[in-house]
Amino acid sequence: MTTLKLALVGNPNSGKSSLFNALTGEHQHVGNYPGVTVEKRVGRGHLDNTPFEVTDLPGNYSLSSFSPEERIARDELLHGGFDVVVFVADSTNLKRSLVLLTNLMQLHKRLVLCLNMADEAKRAGQKLDVPHMSRLLGFPVVETAANRNQGIDELRQMILKAASDPIPQNRLVYGERLDQALTKVRQALGDGEVEGFDPEIRDWIATRLLLQDEGLVFKGPTVEAAKAEAAKQREWLESQTGMDASLYITHSEFGFIDGMLREVTLHETMPDARATSDKIDRVMAHRVWGLPIFAVVMYVLFWLTFTLGEYPMGWIESGFDFLAEKVGSLWSDPSESVLASLLIDGIIKGVGGVVVFLPNIVLLFLGLAILEDTGYLARAAYLMDRIMHRFGLHGKSFVPMLTGFGCSVPGIMATRTLENERDRLTTMLVLPLMSCGARLPIWMLLVPAFFAPKWGAAVLFGIYAFGILVALLLAVLLRHTLLKGEEAPFVMELPPYRLPTLRAICHKMWERAWMYLRKAGTIILAISVLLWALSTWPKTDHYQVEDQLASGALQKVESIDKAAEAKEGQPKQVTETMIENMKKNEEVQNSALGHIGRWIEPLIKPLGFDWRIGTALLGAFAAKEVFVAQMGMVYSLGEVAEEEEEGGDADEKADDKGEKKDEAKEESTSGAATLRAYIRRDYSQATGLALIIFLLISAPCMATIAVTRRESGRWKWALLQFGGLTVIAYVLSFMAYHIASLFA
Ligand code: GDP
Ligand code: MG
Repeated sequence: MTTLKLALVGNPNSGKSSLFNALTGEHQHVGNYPGVTVEKRVGRGHLDNTPFEVTDLPGNYSLSSFSPEERIARDELLHGGFDVVVFVADSTNLKRSLVLLTNLMQLHKRLVLCLNMADEAKRAGQKLDVPHMSRLLGFPVVETAANRNQGIDELRQMILKAASDPIPQNRLVYGERLDQALTKVRQALGDGEVEGFDPEIRDWIATRLLLQDEGLVFKGPTVEAAKAEAAKQREWLESQTGMDASLYITHSEFGFIDGMLREVTLHETMPDARATSDKIDRVMAHRVWGLPIFAVVMYVLFWLTFTLGEYPMGWIESGFDFLAEKVGSLWSDPSESVLASLLIDGIIKGVGGVVVFLPNIVLLFLGLAILEDTGYLARAAYLMDRIMHRFGLHGKSFVPMLTGFGCSVPGIMATRTLENERDRLTTMLVLPLMSCGARLPIWMLLVPAFFAPKWGAAVLFGIYAFGILVALLLAVLLRHTLLKGEEAPFVMELPPYRLPTLRAICHKMWERAWMYLRKAGTIILAISVLLWALSTWPKTDHYQVEDQLASGALQKVESIDKAAEAKEGQPKQVTETMIENMKKNEEVQNSALGHIGRWIEPLIKPLGFDWRIGTALLGAFAAKEVFVAQMGMVYSLGEVAEEEEEGGDADEKADDKGEKKDEAKEESTSGAATLRAYIRRDYSQATGLALIIFLLISAPCMATIAVTRRESGRWKWALLQFGGLTVIAYVLSFMAYHIASLFA
């Protein structure tokens, strides 16, 4: 049996994607149209026994050549060879939704009109004579509530019916004057062939000629004559109506819809249905309080994300510790076995370190999904619009950027909500500057290592703010250079507030959580194993520490052990542990990773970085989370016992009060605390500052680059993002290091 080709068309937010999911059961493939940053979604399924393939066309308001999205939707409709086109309208806003339908009616297609969001329209009291509407239009009409799976079976039946019926006559009427003008143009076109177009759509071509649509090229023996006639008719129309011809056409389209709706409406919407939304907006989208309210909402969301996330985080952490212990107990001496080291240090620690942040991710996306589906995020975008425009971005860019605080990958995917291609590219390119969740553990390690506790929160806030600032400045730069072009005038959608459905929210949340887990299970797993291997081989067979011990340059100091024993009440071998650590340190230095680190050292020396940081930066490129684990690895802290922090630092005493308070906390995370102490010992504050800036701005992780490549459709943009951000990071870190060194 041949496959039915279906298309879904309609305004943005009319529920196309929800219908798409309802029809396909989410068996879909999401990609891009070739060469442009516009999403292409294709899915498959069955109608009774007939297999079908459905395309979710980009949402738009007209079939002119204004934006790439409109051009794509139009070209697909003209040349995509669809058997049935399903037009999706928002029942709560029929007048506006149906204007696009008039364009479609001229295209000589089998149509089905789907009045979606019928649940809401009905609740508001709207009642339509659907069979009558179908008679007036000449094709099937169905009411649906896509997100509740209502009316979907009927829609399926109607699609099958439309597919077997002949293509309906075009019942569109524009009113006397316009019909007359169009007929003249149509006559001038005659039976002449128009290259590349179906002869049946000459009505549509005539309308395009009358509209002077510049984006379309028609060729054919009668086209020139028809163009001349169109010019004449336009003039005539303008003299008759005192109105620009294009505007008059729009008026007439509205007129047709208005008239049709008047005839089929049995009961009007109660006027206060939309008014509820407006009332809420009077507070939430207020010109003055709107933004502060939004800031509070976001703050609460971030706060919940981190505080509530802490509990499950602890559970996951102990789970992985337990697992590591169990695996370790399979060997009598795990430190002797390469396999044990691979399993524990490479896999369990590497993957565990990333999975630990899953609760934060889930909570953040749960919150964002709720805000999005209630319609509040649309208000936020609307409120941010004015500010964002100053930087050449669209208000809608704001939501993907917000998502970028979680992870750049879904953030970049969320740029799909941007209808304009240039907006989408600009947002995508600067998005990695939003400090992502994977960078949070880095800040948690570095900020306390380099700054006094009382400055911690301010520094953290500063890091996030600095990222946003650089992103906005880069956006301005891009808009004035590579992505120059006038801004497409664009209406911000303000859908009414809706009660979100549990199913839709869980679906969104799960999608993100799964993506994160998959990353941990694939990329991060692979990188962890690779880095583990690079730092394990080649093996060191000769230790300098042993030479030093033998020559007497280094001694086991028994008094230290005794003192420790006295303090802890049990035998301690502090110097033994220290010597073990020095050995491990040598092992890493001699390993392949150590060699690579020293090889890139000259390049990063001007920033105040050494080979250890170099290797960790390489790891961070693989996935930002790896930086922390990698610093731990080069300092050989895998097995550190509770080692005393090395005292004697002059500024340590000054911070005494703060340190005391933190003591309880540090004990439980003694690994991180010890690592911090080492970092503080080995690097200056200037290096710390440069390092933080470098990690914030430099080369986004591999996954980000891959997703930028996929979403933009070109390597060019992914490489620009990678190279550009790295160069900027280098320059800024260099400056930060040298300026900060002056004050040190
Ligand atoms: P698209 O932009 O046309 O693809 O629209 P979406 O499918 O993304 O839907 C926009 C919003 O409307 C989402 O929050 C959906 O959950 C919601 N939605 C979709 N269909 C319905 C419906 O029939 N009734 C109601 N109440 N909400 C819907
Ligand atoms: Mg959609």
